Amino acid sequence: MKKVAFKTLGCRLNQYETDAIASQFQDNGFKLVPFDKEADVYVINSCTVTHQSDHKSRNFISQANRKNPDSVLVVTGCMANNAKTELEGRNEINYVVENDHKSSVYSLVEAHYNGEIFHPSKINSDLFSYGSTDKGFHTRSMVKIQDGCDNFCTFCIIPSVRGRAVSRPIQDILDNVKNVVKNGAKEVVLTGVNIGRYEYESYKFDDVVEQILDLEGDFRLRISSIEPDGFGNKFLGLLNHPKMTPHLHLCLQSGSDPILLKMRRMYNIKRFKEIVNKVRSVRADFNITTDIIIGFPDESDQDFESTCNIIKDLQFGHVHAFKYSIRKGTRAERMPAQVDERIKTQRSEVLREIADDVKFQYRKQFIGKEQIVLVEKTDGKNAKGYGEHYVPVVFEGCELKRNHFYKVKIKEITKDTDPVLIGEQVK
Ligand code: SF4
Repeated sequence: MKKVAFKTLGCRLNQYETDAIASQFQDNGFKLVPFDKEADVYVINSCTVTHQSDHKSRNFISQANRKNPDSVLVVTGCMANNAKTELEGRNEINYVVENDHKSSVYSLVEAHYNGEIFHPSKINSDLFSYGSTDKGFHTRSMVKIQDGCDNFCTFCIIPSVRGRAVSRPIQDILDNVKNVVKNGAKEVVLTGVNIGRYEYESYKFDDVVEQILDLEGDFRLRISSIEPDGFGNKFLGLLNHPKMTPHLHLCLQSGSDPILLKMRRMYNIKRFKEIVNKVRSVRADFNITTDIIIGFPDESDQDFESTCNIIKDLQFGHVHAFKYSIRKGTRAERMPAQVDERIKTQRSEVLREIADDVKFQYRKQFIGKEQIVLVEKTDGKNAKGYGEHYVPVVFEGCELKRNHFYKVKIKEITKDTDPVLIGEQVK
């Protein structure tokens, strides 16, 4: 039995695609092994959003080659698009597969073992022809509804590595959801690059969500990440549907209007606050998490202070903070007033402290309340998973099973930088 190992960097969309490719390899007789083990095939699903992600992708390529220099080494994902020439120049890499050909990685390797060496550009390219993800790495089942983006925020490399926005036929999405639910999925996560911009025939994002919520089955629906300009009142009206989870990852990026303008974001602070207040008017404890870029060109102390203040004001449940990283080919690359790396590091530390405190305050409110936890890991007596608000919970119970929902009474919270709720099963 040939062994295959995967390493995935970056976003939920990459994770979804790896889950599907990993399932296909196993359905065809491959044994899945951890990435730090020797394998016959290594697949690295890379990311290129920041310098760090490029650096990590390169390290994993060297690691795989050291583990087994005779392996079939496939590099796909956004760095395969962004640094294609560099990667194709590395002898240890057998295949550099761009995003639009990623769904055919298995057929490429299968052909390789049949002695047919194809250039990846010669194989089928379909952004959505991924099969089931049931043998993937996640308890939650991610469903891809869209790819690419037309927004061209000035800092972002994604439109040039994922292409223009494309939406998956709505019937395919509904069939995919029915299928994973029939196969036992308890939580469905909608993913893509800019899912709020979904548009297929006359259907918009709100319609996709509405039709999924109408499907039969004991499952709940989560939205992976969405742009603040990406949904309408219909979607807001669906937020209190019993199957909808009270968590949205709304990418803010900066708390300063002048910086948002330079980023070419589609909203200002006033509009962002309106959206958050509308969402919180549905449920006061709605978990809003976000992304923040620190040290975007021209960011002044005042701009940074505005970002810190909005984090306190809006009580984000979690903040992904990134130091701005110049991406070749983006408009921000040509902006003159680049911020010094030392200032970015100082600001990151300040922001991290504020965000961690706000997160702790947000999660503390669940003490004494109940959460419906989907178990990801358990030994039958102790379990770990996420509640409906996407807050991590550990709890005690009996005969606990993975991929099952349990009602849990929250007793206390840990004091870690990523505080976990501690509870016990409600019998
Ligand atoms: S909306 Fe902006 S940040 Fe998001 S993928 Fe598109 S260009 Fe990038």
